Amino acid sequence: MSKTHYYPPFLAGDEEAERGPCGVWLGETSKLSGDWRAVDCARCLKKRMAITASSESEERAIVQQMGDMADFMRTQQVKP
Ligand SMILES: [Zn+2]
Repeated sequence: MSKTHYYPPFLAGDEEAERGPCGVWLGETSKLSGDWRAVDCARCLKKRMAITASSESEERAIVQQMGDMADFMRTQQVKP
């Protein structure tokens, strides 16, 4: 019954995840992997496209955030 869910290191925070990105509650028998070839959870595989797309848009958001930060720093430097 144990499935391997997709859970790449960049999604893992300091705390241990209770649920996989597919929404399935992770039991003790659940395995996690960042390698799609090891993933055999049907829900994860189904969400593969969505997960991939969201991590890509997240990257774009981070780039946007860094741009905002640079603007913020420039604004701060103008002030005394
Ligand atoms: Zn899963």
